[in-house]
Amino acid sequence: MPTTSHHNGFVYLIGAGPGDPGLITVRGRECIGQAEVILYDYLANEELLRHARQDAELIYAGKVGGAHNREQSQINELLVQKALEGKVVARLKGGDPFVFGRGGEECEALVAHRIPFEIIPGVTAGIGAASYAGIPLTHRDFTTSVAFVTGHEGRDKDVSTIDWERLSLGSGTIVFYMGIKNLPQITASLMDHGRAPETPVALIRWGTRPDQEVLIGTLADIAGKARKTGFKAPAITVVGEVVTLREKLRWFDNRPLFGRTVLVTRAADQAGEFSRLLEARGARVLECPTIRIAPPESFTGLDDAIARLADFHWLVFTSGNAVTAFFDRLQGLGFDSRAIGPCKVCAVGPKTAEQLQAHGVRADLIPEDYKGEGVVAAFADRDIRGLQILFPKGDRARDVIPAGLRQQGAKVATPVAYRNLAPDSVPLPVLTALEERRVDCVTFTASSTASNLADLLGENRFLKLLGGITVASIGPITSRTCRELGLEVDIEPGEYTLAALTSEIVDYYTSRI
Ligand code: SAH
Repeated sequence: MPTTSHHNGFVYLIGAGPGDPGLITVRGRECIGQAEVILYDYLANEELLRHARQDAELIYAGKVGGAHNREQSQINELLVQKALEGKVVARLKGGDPFVFGRGGEECEALVAHRIPFEIIPGVTAGIGAASYAGIPLTHRDFTTSVAFVTGHEGRDKDVSTIDWERLSLGSGTIVFYMGIKNLPQITASLMDHGRAPETPVALIRWGTRPDQEVLIGTLADIAGKARKTGFKAPAITVVGEVVTLREKLRWFDNRPLFGRTVLVTRAADQAGEFSRLLEARGARVLECPTIRIAPPESFTGLDDAIARLADFHWLVFTSGNAVTAFFDRLQGLGFDSRAIGPCKVCAVGPKTAEQLQAHGVRADLIPEDYKGEGVVAAFADRDIRGLQILFPKGDRARDVIPAGLRQQGAKVATPVAYRNLAPDSVPLPVLTALEERRVDCVTFTASSTASNLADLLGENRFLKLLGGITVASIGPITSRTCRELGLEVDIEPGEYTLAALTSEIVDYYTSRI
């Protein structure tokens, strides 16, 4: 139970996990969302800050490579001060707050001022990085114990104060934090105290992140290898026979897109799904929203159609956005899915059909070819002469469907249900990555993603920044737009889905090795 006190200030000491933002705890994420002030560390992934309240005060309290941006005492003071002002404060620390994180000292300061607090543990780097390197820290065949040790002791001490005698032979696996600078002394001390020179060692830098680096060696040669390759902090050092298991158990940094940076250009609210698919294959994904979905300039057309919904025989949806826009408006007008009545529904592809399912509607027709032409072809098998078809569309939709269906004798209403607008600018991290040539592949999942990005960057800069980068397009229409804009298309799947595009990108990179 938190201590009672006269103010409402409260501090959450939150373990942010080792890097992968998915490795924070559920409780940790909740508390980030409650905080009015967030003090975050160099090692806490900044992506976690998107869980913060819009109005939260974000304070960087980082330390970079030992050069303390703020002294620990200043951090303690700041924590205390904000809490005494009555604020709910989150102290977000890399890994676990109580493992070499000076969380203990911060807590002591809180106790001294009778400030109530809660500790939310995190996945510590030693455990997270080892897992993502495919190294089990214990294993029945190799070792029954593991020790976490600092490779960088406090101010007036140094690593020589460690009881090397007991450590060298007393623990099966040894995990050093902050040990890269002292690697020559650490490895020498272990060998001097009886650990075999051929003991396997792994260095894991930025473990669990898309830029994780692993260097393997032995006690005898790892320090030399690290020097030669310029291996830098932050990294953990794992010493012990279990390191050999990586060869068999490696799973993260050998994924097909590991080390590749892929730019996803999509509507902000849709980027997630494609990004997850790419990330599951190991890619580092940068999201660049190029479309902002907005309501139509006027709802008159859509409202008229909804008012006479009973007249229609078919409803046609060519995107999840159209489904969302249509049903949102339906509900806004006081109706629900039942308003569709016996009207049949066509969805351009499985994803759009899934969106319909969310509204309790099952698609009666999904064409074999997931695009406008496919919809027209699918209706060609039926007699739609004289039928009324409602096609709630985006403002940039092509005319293929209305034209094709009218040719087959149907009456087609095409109210605009939503608009595709360009956002105001390209996010700075994306621009920087493009300028520094750190992007390997740019993806376009609709013509508008390509033309909007060209508009956003300006045509010259678009070609300059994207020149030489692999271009992946979801299908022939989008590819044509890319070519019209001056890009060559390297990747195009046979089926127009995000899953197919993802595996085509994987094929492209795996066949190139
Ligand atoms: N409280 C943190 C440790 C802070 S000490 C935790 O529980 O993880 C800082 C050291 O942690 C770094 O010098 C490095 O040795 C290690 N570290 C933190 N994040 C790391 C990561 N993603 N990969 C490898 N080592 C990391």
